[in-house]
Amino acid sequence: MKKPAGIYLHIPFCERKCTYCNFNTTDFANDLASRYTDAVAREIAYWGRRLAEEFQSKERLAVDTIFFGGGTPSIIEAEQLAALVQSCRDAFHLTEDIEITIEINPATFSSKKLEEWRASGVNRASVGVQSFIDSELTALSRTHTADDARRTIGLLREAGFANISLDLIAGLPGQTLADWEFNLAEALELLPEHLSLYLLEVKEGTQLFAQIERGRTPRPDDDLAAEMYRKMCDATGGAGYEHYEISNFALAPRADSNIKSFRSKHNMKYWTGAAFYGMGCGAHSYDGRARWINILKTEHYIDRVLSDGHAVAERRDLTEQDRAAEALFMGLRLIEGVSLDSFRKDYGLDIEDRYGDDLSRLNDAGLIEICGGRLKLTERGLLLSNEVFEAFI
Ligand code: SF4
Repeated sequence: MKKPAGIYLHIPFCERKCTYCNFNTTDFANDLASRYTDAVAREIAYWGRRLAEEFQSKERLAVDTIFFGGGTPSIIEAEQLAALVQSCRDAFHLTEDIEITIEINPATFSSKKLEEWRASGVNRASVGVQSFIDSELTALSRTHTADDARRTIGLLREAGFANISLDLIAGLPGQTLADWEFNLAEALELLPEHLSLYLLEVKEGTQLFAQIERGRTPRPDDDLAAEMYRKMCDATGGAGYEHYEISNFALAPRADSNIKSFRSKHNMKYWTGAAFYGMGCGAHSYDGRARWINILKTEHYIDRVLSDGHAVAERRDLTEQDRAAEALFMGLRLIEGVSLDSFRKDYGLDIEDRYGDDLSRLNDAGLIEICGGRLKLTERGLLLSNEVFEAFI
């Protein structure tokens, strides 16, 4: 029997572009959002039919995670979001223990929307807080304050959300270690079930990149970022969080909770090589044999779905070797690393034979280790993970 897959639904709209962001976004407009969500519903129906045909199954494909990402999924009307969940119910078999996550920008949030999300089955909220210091939020062009974020989390709790994740960014321009410690303490005070704590990456093409190039904003300091990373590991560990992925931390489930784990069930699919299907502009998919990506531009995406039912722009069939290499560098993102035995069984490949030279070099550099039959990043490797991943790409 096939393992349940995940569904990613991309909602590209934002009120305005944050300075550090290089995601596929577009300005929000009511009419465009309405045409777009109709197109995504069509695309969901298309993939439901097509995947059932491909798997020669009379049953609809089982799905145990839906993730509304963006952009800003909380910006669209609650009815539009509910209609997309319903489209998934019509096209796929949603399991009883399904995790349905919505990414929330605290500036685009209302109690009314929240009740309607709950009614449509959304049971996990991922709140883009980024900082609890208003001057940092302003510098990033975020459209909310720290108090908006606190209020959002309070209202989510009141509405019965028992699985909340917060995002914070460390290493912001001009941010001191004390600022970061303050942000961490504020986040931990709210006791979210999950934390995503990212070190700032300055990507080419962003406003932040241009500001730094022109000398208007200081360049991030790598040593300070490393110190901030250590602080986040210590503080979350001290507060009882399991550090389970480079940037992700989860509380242990409570005895009275029917949720078995507060790890992100959806993101675990990316890190463990499970199948997921992305719908919406620029969304990625992986079915265990191939990867594909949809058309990026919102208007072009809508036109293509209206004519063809789907909007695949590019598809790459993976060789056995590609699959193994991807599984290795995605699996290494997990703190528990990759089991050498399971990898041999799943991919017919002995990691030590295949990557022996690279493994020795990375081991000598103190970036990886093999212990208990698992290949893992070391503490230093967690900070310099991109250097490790390059060896396997
Ligand atoms: S709200 Fe999120 S997706 Fe939109 S511009 Fe800001 S960081 Fe990017």
